[in-house]
Amino acid sequence: MKFLDITDTLFNGVQASSHIEFDHEKIFYCEDDISGLKSIIAIHSSKSGPAIGGCRFRQYQTYEEGLTDVLRLSRGMTEKNNAADIPFGGGKAIIFSDKPKSTELLVAFASFLNQLEGIYYSAEDMGISLEDIQLVGKHTPYVFDNVDPGSYTAKGIFYSIQVALKFYLQKDIKDSIISLQGAGSVGSELAKLLGDMGATIYVQDIDQVKLQQLSTENIHIVENALTQECDLLSPCAVGGIFTESSIQNLGCKIIAGGANNQLLNPSIDSHLYKKGIRYIPDVLINSGGVIGLTKDILKRNDLQIEDDLKLIGKRALDSMSFAKANNMSVLEAIDGLLI
Ligand code: NAD
Repeated sequence: MKFLDITDTLFNGVQASSHIEFDHEKIFYCEDDISGLKSIIAIHSSKSGPAIGGCRFRQYQTYEEGLTDVLRLSRGMTEKNNAADIPFGGGKAIIFSDKPKSTELLVAFASFLNQLEGIYYSAEDMGISLEDIQLVGKHTPYVFDNVDPGSYTAKGIFYSIQVALKFYLQKDIKDSIISLQGAGSVGSELAKLLGDMGATIYVQDIDQVKLQQLSTENIHIVENALTQECDLLSPCAVGGIFTESSIQNLGCKIIAGGANNQLLNPSIDSHLYKKGIRYIPDVLINSGGVIGLTKDILKRNDLQIEDDLKLIGKRALDSMSFAKANNMSVLEAIDGLLI
């Protein structure tokens, strides 16, 4: 097994410390010929405590594409953990899906975590399920494997959607039309919460099975959640969906969802603002998962957790108010506050 600190090394033709997204403490790479594991772990910050963040199993066209993803995601984790006010820093892992996910590969990933001796704790993310992390957890102590964070993330977003609809449109959830992209762990739970409150919901997913599993009555399946006419669009699938061209045909007035890094680049924020679409940044409202993940280690009971999740909505409202008072976007309003 190859285990490398690549922070200051030229590796696969890329110097991580010269990467445009780099302002990190450490970057590590692990490769295991037997299982096929190829993985990067990025530690963005350990100022507030050991770095925590999920592990993503995904296809990347190049090594550099994977590096870019893990650098951006790990910085987002620092912001998210600060937003959630928990004593942990930000980190993230990616596994290149060149080889299929297998027990051997997940065990090799556990060895990678053991090499880092607790400076980073992992959890699930796209492509990695709670069951996968529980398997990893049989071979390392450095995972959070007792909670599925999706429902906690959904709850924090739900409270944020509630305040955003009221603040910008003076609407209650029951009178609102909400378009959702993604019916996975976060999206399906969010659809349930919103549906139970009487919202009309449109949902898009590439996985027909996930769509069929949605049991809420007032749900309609659509081909394209982004162009669907609605009050609020909630992206809960992949990142990078808002580009200069995709935002031309949006059907929403507000964007508030869980997917990480929804803007292809930060300049998209000002384009949305000029179009009158109010974008609530993911990092401000999708920190419910880390609150749920760390509840046992921080000994927080269910009532405290519910209060913490409601605080996400309260902070979102404060940021919306500040942004409105200062004629700026919410992203501009929170700039510099979270790191
Ligand atoms: P998931 O893997 O459970 O669900 C993602 C869903 O998106 C799947 O059903 C998938 O089929 C669908 N999908 C993928 N590409 C799509 C596309 N192009 N169009 C429509 N649907 C598509 O993931 P999740 O845990 O629900 O996370 C969703 C997003 O939220 C991710 O960006 C993740 O990083 C982010 N996030 C998740 C959590 C959490 O607690 N799980 C916390 C914070 C942020």
